[in-house]
Parts: sequence; C-alpha cells; structure tokens
Amino acid sequence: MDDTFVIVGGDAAGMSAASKAKREDPDLGVIVFEKGEWVSYAACGMPYYVKGAVDDLEDLVAVTPEEFREKRDVDVRTGHEVVGVDPEAKSVTVDAGGERFDQPYGSLLIGTGARAVVPPFDGVDLEGVFTLGRMDEADAIETYVTDREPATAAIVGGGYIGTEMAEALSARGVGVSIFEMLPRTLQPFGEEAARVVEDHLREQGVDLHLETAVQGFSGDGRIETVDLEDGSVEAELAIVGVGVAPNAELAAEAGIELGPTGAIATDEYGRTSEEGVFAAGDCAEATNVVTGEPDHVPLALTANRAGRAIGSTVAGEPTPTGGTAATAIVKAFDLGVARTGVIDPEAARDAGFDPGSVTIEAGTRSHYYPGAETLTVTLVADRESERVLGASVVGREGAKRIDTVATAVHAGLTVTELQNLDLAYAPPFSPVWDPILTAAKVLGGKLEA
Ligand SMILES: Cc1cc2nc3c(=O)[nH]c(=O)nc-3n(C[C@H](O)[C@H](O)[C@H](O)COP(=O)(O)OP(=O)(O)OC[C@H]3O[C@@H](n4cnc5c(N)ncnc54)[C@H](O)[C@@H]3O)c2cc1C
Repeated sequence: MDDTFVIVGGDAAGMSAASKAKREDPDLGVIVFEKGEWVSYAACGMPYYVKGAVDDLEDLVAVTPEEFREKRDVDVRTGHEVVGVDPEAKSVTVDAGGERFDQPYGSLLIGTGARAVVPPFDGVDLEGVFTLGRMDEADAIETYVTDREPATAAIVGGGYIGTEMAEALSARGVGVSIFEMLPRTLQPFGEEAARVVEDHLREQGVDLHLETAVQGFSGDGRIETVDLEDGSVEAELAIVGVGVAPNAELAAEAGIELGPTGAIATDEYGRTSEEGVFAAGDCAEATNVVTGEPDHVPLALTANRAGRAIGSTVAGEPTPTGGTAATAIVKAFDLGVARTGVIDPEAARDAGFDPGSVTIEAGTRSHYYPGAETLTVTLVADRESERVLGASVVGREGAKRIDTVATAVHAGLTVTELQNLDLAYAPPFSPVWDPILTAAKVLGGKLEA
C-alpha cells in the first residue's frame, strides 16, 4: 500500500502540514499539488504590496518551491490541479497543463482554501474590476494602479479586505468610495467598533456609502462608473470584496461531508468523513470554542495551526487541530480594530447564552505619559455564568490587547477571573488598570447589579 502523504493546495494549511510531517518523519513521502505558481505565500500581505509598504510580491513568500524540494525534501508541484478524489481507491486525479494522471495516497489533506465571492453584477468583466484573493490579482491591481493612475476607486463591501484596500489605495493617491449593503461595516467586529472605524474612514477622506447595494459597473471596455439603484458614481477601479466561499467542491464531489457552514466538516483532528482524508484551512470547518459548534473562520492562524497538527497526526503523533475563537485584527488607516469570541447578541442567544455587555473608553498609557490614545473596548459575558464570551477593541494603539480576551475566551474564564489577571504595567505601556481589566471591572459590576 502506498503511504504517501498527498496534499492539495500549497499555502498556509498545505505547506504547514508538509513541513511538519517531514520534520516528524523524514522518511515519509510528501507530495504537494498546487494549481497556481505560488506556494507558501502570505495573502494577508497583499493589501500592503498594493499600498507600496512591501516592495516586491516575492517578499510575501516564506519558502519557495525550490527550497521546499531541496531543503525540506517535499515534492512540491506547482501548475498541478487536483480534479478528482477517489476515497475508495485512495487516489487523486491530477491535471498538469492538460496531462492527467492518478496519484495514490496513504493520507490526503485537502487544503484548497477559499475564493472571493463575486455576485452577479453587470460589468464585472470590465477592465479595472478586481477581486483580491490570489497573488496574481494583487499583482494585477498594483500594475493597474501604477499604469493607469486611477483617480477614483469603488470598493464593494466594507469587510476587512475592503477596509485594508481603502487604506492601500488612498496611500497611492486614489480617491476611495466604499459601498456596503448593510447598515454598518466590519460585521464580525460589532457595532461599537464599526462606528469608530467608520468615523475614522470618513476623517481619512473615504466616501462611505452604507445601506447601498451595488448593481454593477459600466464603461467602454474599462470601468468608468459603479452603478447603484439610484444613479451611478465615478470609479476608474473597483475591488469587489464581499466575502469568501470555501473551495469545498472537490471534497463534495468525492462524497466527503460538508458541514452546516458549507465548508468541509472535520473532527478535532481535522479528519473528514472519509478514512485517511483530512481537511484544513479556509476550505474546512473548525470548532468554535465558545459555542462548541462548527464554524467557518477563514483566517491564517486557523489554517497554519490545523495544517501543522495534521502533519503531526499523519507522521504518527495524533494532534488536535485546536478550536477557534475567530480572533481577528485589522488595520484601518491609523486605527487597529480587533475582535474575539461571540460578540453579536443574537449569535450569543442562539448559542444558549444570556449576553450582557459594556463598552468603555480608556487610555492606553498612564494619563500623564505622553502619547496615550483612547481604546474603546466592548466586553461581552454570559449573565448567569459570568463566562467571558468575547470582545472588540479599537483604537490608535493597543488593539492587540484583544489577545488577553482571546486567552480568557479559550480558557473559559469568568469576568471576575479576567478582572483579577495580573497584567503588566508601566506608564509608557498601560495605566495601572489595563483597559481590558477596566472593562472587566465595569462589566462585573453591571452583571452583579
Ligand atoms: C487580501 C487578504 C488579506 C488577508 N489578511 C489576513 C489577515 O490579516 N489575517 C488573517 O488571519 N488572515 C488573512 N487573510 C486570510 C488568509 O490569507 C487565509 O486564511 C489563509 O491563506 C488560508 O490558507 P489556506 O491554506 O487554507 O488557503 P489558501 O491560502 O487559499 O491556499 C489554498 C491553495 O490551494 C490551491 N488550490 C485550490 N484548489 C486546488 C486544487 N484543486 N488543486 C491544487 N491546488 C488547489 C490554491 O491555488 C491556493 O494556493 C487574508 C486573505 C486575503 C485574500
């Protein structure tokens, strides 16, 4: 029997698994099939490449295919698309530029990622209309901005990619409008944080259109306007950033079960419904540590960590992939905005909690120390158990303080336990009561009242 570890998809999940499996078992044969030309790239860095903060697209690559082959003995094959999986025969069908062949596996990891969702907009094929999910798209946007010097850009979708691209394009001298269908931007970050960000976007000159559904784009071969229900707005460039969908079709066609989110269902070891087949990263579900339910959290650490754990498991050391608190942080011009856990009251109630919350503003340093900024913290806990459910944090500095709450969420701490954490203090870094501790104190008092 062939015990080769075959991996589909050569980025965060796939390459983490390949590297870890090889480190743990150097004799294991590991083949990675990647349909594109890039492997082990930081998609998260793409907005900063367009912005000009990163000089070369290659700088986003952690390890090249040659390095994987030569230094890590991983058989990486770019330009190879896996077009079928046969779990009975334990084999995948690969298309390499029109040539097809079958590759047997002992273990298989599906790490196919997610793709940008493109609604059925008119004019979506016009020159100058982009999504940003792949390295070639980052390259195309950067080239377009350099060559065409657009004066105006429309960003469709006020999510985190739209927000990062608003900053990137503004830095390149492009006037940015954001169109968001819902009443607020940055949905997963909660209303309080979103409002602070929205005020800041406006201060930065972004033309923010909330509750505004885009119909499509118009132009003569190249985009000239973004079209709305009640008129149109000039735009020489458009980025469609309305969310991502898991690339789960390959798995579904092979009879592998998908979960309630539409991503590939996995157990705590990343195993799918088919024996010997694992899934990780943006194509797969992970367990939410607050709700205990399957969740789809297409973020980098989730992918890297699950891939690494699966690499260990395949190499003979069964390792759980770890749960997710959906912790995330985003730079929005001069602000950092972050979230963790369950902060939406309806989602908390759906999960069986009775959520209570506070929003506080606190300084990031001692009041007498120069440079202190205001941090807005929203902390959410269950009224009955006082368990911390989640938080959002937004400010000009200190948004990484979300990690304290993420730790509390993972550990299942109560508000009182959070309040009693011994956190570091010195005037240049924090007031004596860190803003997170202050929020916990205030919320604790409110829950007791
Ligand atoms: C613009 C942008 C900014 C982001 N910023 C952040 C951030 O700041 N923080 C954060 O946590 N996350 C961020 N992310 C998300 C993060 O990049 C992803 O969570 C992470 O890349 C997921 O890794 P993955 O390996 O699951 O999937 P991917 O990175 O999507 O890789 C999947 C790979 O599989 C390949 N593939 C797909 N199907 C096949 C097939 N059939 N055969 C062979 N190969 C195939 C694809 O070509 C791709 O290379 C960002 C994403 C984008 C697009």
